[in-house]
Amino acid sequence: MRFQFIGCGDAFGSGGRFNTCFHLVGETVNVLIDCGASSLIAMKRLGIDRNAIRAILVTHFHADHFGGIPFFMLDAQFFSRRTEPLIVAGPRGLPAWYERVMETAFPGSAAATRKFDLSLVELEPGHPVAIAGTRVTAAQAAHGPPGGPFLALRVEVEGRSIAYTGDTEWTDALVPAIRDCDLLVAESYFFDRQVKTHLDYATLAAQLPRLRPRRLVLTHMSEEMLARAGSLPCTVAEDGLTIAL
Ligand SMILES: [Zn+2]
Ligand SMILES: [Zn+2]
Repeated sequence: MRFQFIGCGDAFGSGGRFNTCFHLVGETVNVLIDCGASSLIAMKRLGIDRNAIRAILVTHFHADHFGGIPFFMLDAQFFSRRTEPLIVAGPRGLPAWYERVMETAFPGSAAATRKFDLSLVELEPGHPVAIAGTRVTAAQAAHGPPGGPFLALRVEVEGRSIAYTGDTEWTDALVPAIRDCDLLVAESYFFDRQVKTHLDYATLAAQLPRLRPRRLVLTHMSEEMLARAGSLPCTVAEDGLTIAL
């Protein structure tokens, strides 16, 4: 199984990186995690077969994580000619957000007829669900109003566990989703500057002894953080980076 960073950037193109989108592929699994506004471009650059993707797991509805859904859907309809069903899973309110993002990007597209079935699955923190052969457990992230539609995700499949913080400031609510995972992909927006709604490297590093990930990769970095990337004692994501699991 392998985990590839299709895009590891923030919302502002820091470092010239594509918006957040990860690809988990194994013998039985083929899912995306997040699909930002530039993710279709990044997928085409990497030659990714979009029709093989069975599900898109979304952490939150910001454009750098969710804004690529309309492009993915129209590509599936008109160019990659998808026929297999697709699942999009995300926070509470997903059906209304799906309609909103589709209608904003391409008016009339939300209700267009397609040659494939689309299922929208709302994830509730702490309630594991089976999606496309994986076990997905969401945790409440802190990236806006408390209890808002912001998730961290733990994906378990083929005997491995992958956790992604999503965008979030530190909250103990993340611990059960992250603890003892094989791969932790963690936001590291700044080095040690603590801001509301985002995670900095120093805060994350202080939590690592109780999280105990077997592998850590930092993602979603600002220009300031990227400038220090070479001096960190852990792996820093790059667009196209693949981690074998
Ligand atoms: Zn973001
Ligand atoms: Zn965000």
